[in-house]
Amino acid sequence: MESTSDKVLLGKLLGESAYHYEDRRELLIDNLISVDIVGDDEIREIKYSNRLAHADRIQILYYLYYLKRLGIEKTGVINYPKMRRKEEVILTPQGEREVEEALLRVQEILNMDRPPAIVRKPYCPKCAYYEFCFG
Ligand code: SF4
Repeated sequence: MESTSDKVLLGKLLGESAYHYEDRRELLIDNLISVDIVGDDEIREIKYSNRLAHADRIQILYYLYYLKRLGIEKTGVINYPKMRRKEEVILTPQGEREVEEALLRVQEILNMDRPPAIVRKPYCPKCAYYEFCFG
């Protein structure tokens, strides 16, 4: 569904055009996580807007958590180039607990016989999965 989403396409174009001088981009690790930019000391994610800042943060925390389990310790940065903003993200013990709690919630949903009841959020109409959820 993401292949037909204008928003996803805009984000992809932004990701390709912003920081084009970086050479280690869109690195797929273990066929599981795809990191926008991998630097010597940090990983970076490029986002179109900060409307889902909490989701952006837990995404990069998860990447940092995953890399740490591979023996790679880095810091994280979320870039919002259109807003000329960036957020630094460090994997603290609290951050690790947040990731583990999120993974538990994911597992709980995967274990359900039926998906949880749908809740319409303000950002749903712009989501790539809108037709899937509400069509
Ligand atoms: S449209 Fe569906 S997948 Fe997208 S944010 Fe809303 S509930 Fe989640």
